[in-house]
Amino acid sequence: MTSSFHPPQRTLMGPGPSDVNPRILEAMSRPTIGHLDPLFVQMMDEMKGLLQYAFQTKNELTIPVSAPGSAGMETCFVNLVEPGDTVIICQNGVFGGRMKENVERCGATAIMVEDEWGTACDPAKLEAALKAHPEATTVAFVHAETSTGASTDVKTMCDLAHAHGCLTIVDAVTSLGGTELRVDDWGIDAIYSGTQKCLSCTPGLSPVSFSPAAVERIQNRKTKVQSWFLDLNLVMGYWGQGAKRAYHHTAPINALYALHEALVLLKEEGLENAWARHAKHHNALKAGLETLGLSFIVPEADRLPQLNSVSIPDGVDDAQVRGILLNDYNLEIGAGLGVMAGKVWRIGLMGYACRKDNVLTCVSALGEVLGRVGVDVDAKKAMAATLSAYGE
Ligand SMILES: *Cc1c(COP(=O)(O)O)cnc(C)c1O
Repeated sequence: MTSSFHPPQRTLMGPGPSDVNPRILEAMSRPTIGHLDPLFVQMMDEMKGLLQYAFQTKNELTIPVSAPGSAGMETCFVNLVEPGDTVIICQNGVFGGRMKENVERCGATAIMVEDEWGTACDPAKLEAALKAHPEATTVAFVHAETSTGASTDVKTMCDLAHAHGCLTIVDAVTSLGGTELRVDDWGIDAIYSGTQKCLSCTPGLSPVSFSPAAVERIQNRKTKVQSWFLDLNLVMGYWGQGAKRAYHHTAPINALYALHEALVLLKEEGLENAWARHAKHHNALKAGLETLGLSFIVPEADRLPQLNSVSIPDGVDDAQVRGILLNDYNLEIGAGLGVMAGKVWRIGLMGYACRKDNVLTCVSALGEVLGRVGVDVDAKKAMAATLSAYGE
């Protein structure tokens, strides 16, 4: 007989999913009701307001797409891009490459502006590309590159795009709830995020938001959106105001309870406080990791607090160390992605996982395991440095 699945209690300090707050798991287990039930519809309306707060936007079209971050990405591209369009993509890691895939599958041309992995996107390169491609309609880039831990200056990039008549698509999957993000002030026209990174919710939903200019473009398309499921002209009918709501697809009801709870938690803490918490614990983790001899690959000014990429010491077996951490400490840290595979560890400090006890666990476990595999480390000194960063 096959029996129920009971996963272990892990500490998730990788690139996502992050530790889920128990309040969110509890919310998810509440009774399922109909997705057109008036009380459910009321919850959805409230969620829209909570998402507007999280994104710092007044955008009316602010909703969770019923699928993970990758579907949020696809929602932005298939709705804003038409066959024959030109889209400038600034790439500094894995996720920019996925944007290119999206653009090409829309029948459009992607102009790639490449920056070295581990650095921010360079606005000067974007400006040169905008001048060289006056036919471009859209600029896309990642705010927080989870593959490297680099942060890009969104406002400067958006200002340049607008000065050249382009709309902007921004990937905020890892930034939402973890670092400063202001959709309206920064001029973002289309943004997508995820639930399982700094919102500390279960994976599977993608909050998105579209500016009035983006909505106007969507409503005036020459061609139908290639995806029926992600066509916002249809989805808007479902997420529209109260009585007008029409069946489009069955909302993932319990997953939406979870996201609602995650957003209530964010509101209770306060956005600025959440950003400050990520910065504080990053500083303590940094002190510990650097004392263990692990160096950050991203220059300090562009570093994300919620995703810490450090070089793996020479001669150390990446998979062996991560395996010991998982098996002996129930601690998950991330491997390198793409060209960074085998070269870096990605240590996440996202949402509910971004806590002092996790930072201390991580520094002490890494110190012990690195010593065990033969690296000359002073684990005691690393712990002292971490505590000292907390003022102790
Ligand atoms: C995780 C992530 C995605 C993809 O999100 P999924 O929920 O895994 O589909 C996209 N962009 C960035 C920057 C991410 O970190």
